[in-house]
Amino acid sequence: MSGGKQIDCAYCGNEKLSKNDIGLNKKLIHPQIERMMCLTCMAEYFETTEEDMKELIERFKRQGCALFL
Ligand SMILES: [Zn+2]
Repeated sequence: MSGGKQIDCAYCGNEKLSKNDIGLNKKLIHPQIERMMCLTCMAEYFETTEEDMKELIERFKRQGCALFL
């Protein structure tokens, strides 16, 4: 096993998006999204803050969404 593939932000090159970052891309943008964004870029994209993005992750987690850890 290679330990899973690493996914980097397609926009700023931020390395190693976490499972939660990836889940948020899928949840908010598209389930089959190919160009993933890091939290910083997503916050910019949605004109919000990284803190808000983290809160969203927590909310989806509480809903039991399988895309999040
Ligand atoms: Zn980025």
